[in-house]
Amino acid sequence: MSYQDPSRRDVLRTAALTGAGLGLAGSGLAGSGLAGGGLALPGTERKTKRVVFIAFAGGVRTKETFGTPANVPNMVDMSKEGVLFPRMRTANLGHFGAALSIFTGISEARGIRENSRGPDPTVFEYLRKDLGLAASDVWITTSGGAQQTNYAYGLHPEYGPKYGATTLDGDGIFNREFKDLLTRYGLPEPMEGGEKSMLDKLRKGIRTMGGGDPVKEAENLARIEEYILSELTRGTSDISGAGAGDAKALRLARNLLSIFKPKVTGVVLQNADIAHGSFNGYQEVIRRNDAAIGELWTAVKEDEELAESTAFFILPEFGRDRDLNARRGLDHGDGSDDLRWVSCLAVGPDFKKGVVNKDAHQVIDVMPTICDLFGAEAKLSKGGRLSGLYR
Ligand SMILES: [Zn+2]
Repeated sequence: MSYQDPSRRDVLRTAALTGAGLGLAGSGLAGSGLAGGGLALPGTERKTKRVVFIAFAGGVRTKETFGTPANVPNMVDMSKEGVLFPRMRTANLGHFGAALSIFTGISEARGIRENSRGPDPTVFEYLRKDLGLAASDVWITTSGGAQQTNYAYGLHPEYGPKYGATTLDGDGIFNREFKDLLTRYGLPEPMEGGEKSMLDKLRKGIRTMGGGDPVKEAENLARIEEYILSELTRGTSDISGAGAGDAKALRLARNLLSIFKPKVTGVVLQNADIAHGSFNGYQEVIRRNDAAIGELWTAVKEDEELAESTAFFILPEFGRDRDLNARRGLDHGDGSDDLRWVSCLAVGPDFKKGVVNKDAHQVIDVMPTICDLFGAEAKLSKGGRLSGLYR
């Protein structure tokens, strides 16, 4: 068992995140877990330090993804660098319960109402609790809508909101946890080039905080928040049309990765469900999401630190019916193999490359696999682990 020393860069970044060098008094960081959390992974020599976990939800058949490579050229390219699991058994067949199952590793969704939090801990809570990860290290971006904030954490008494993911939705609206985070930690890692002078100005402003003028302090915090919000949501306001919510969620994830370099970035998509009324619209959403996933992957590859340390897992919550409905769309309720079996893509520095693993797995196996990858344990999950993944 060996502990890895955090790199100098990580230490500097942590200092920047904590506001330690910025004169932010009373940040209350001691023992919060930020300093050590996730930087040292006991009992593992794995290279993976970060994961991007994309629920390509909304009901997506393999037929229109890896069965039609022209629809998903980027994910096909990614599969050449990783492992494709084309035989993943779905958990259940309501969008909310099934997508939640991906994050909880529990297929039983009885009793979960469509707009409420589930009783079980999510992957985010296991990782934050077991590894002592800070809120700034674990994020989820969603396609939008109040319901989707329920993926960030469940109601289990041993886990829950204090271990939840920091939520960012398609409209760039932060949850309360994020506001608390900013108050406590201050600025994220400084940005390069043109933004630097802006940042210097902000820093000057922050240094004057704590001078006993609460109005000024509040103003300064508001400016920091505005700045970070504008950075995180950069390039999202001009996204429109079919699938805009998904495209925004993926863009937010990209911005998050470049600014915070989180340990865990969850993304929940949903726009493919346009398929009920339009097969063509559904294919369009798939193509658009593949392009955005390609941009996200490229951003990771172009950043040396991220490239060497980031794994991706991408899978839908279930597929769709075998045959078109009367509206020339596709529902999800026929129990066909197209509905019940989906594909999962896993790419990362510790995984095999260019392998198609045809063993049968379940969609609920993915999150325990992610926990295991980081040295955490998904105690209550009913899933197993993806076999044949590691090199
Ligand atoms: Zn649907």
